[in-house]
Amino acid sequence: MSLKRCTSKNNKKAQSCLKCGGGLSGLKDDTVNTCVCCGQQHLVDFYSSGTLVLTVAERPELRRRHIEPKEESPVDEAAQADFNARLAAFKSKWAETEKEKAANE
Ligand SMILES: [Zn+2]
Repeated sequence: MSLKRCTSKNNKKAQSCLKCGGGLSGLKDDTVNTCVCCGQQHLVDFYSSGTLVLTVAERPELRRRHIEPKEESPVDEAAQADFNARLAAFKSKWAETEKEKAANE
């Protein structure tokens, strides 16, 4: 039996029990739905994208309801300054090499 299923809510299979495949009715976001056929409980999540996610109640850790917005990785200013310094050094070194090449030709 599946422990979790993500489907479009328009998919007929979306609203069926993960255990016995029986139809589920009265699915509501953020509720526990109990299958009338076998008693399997499902955690129900509707997403605004139109996705319906069913997770068995026994495995709530599989549920990813609250997706944390990605934190901006703090820019390490010291590392950034160091990188800029290296880049500047590389560029001037490269410019010198180019000048030498031109001089030798
Ligand atoms: Zn069932």
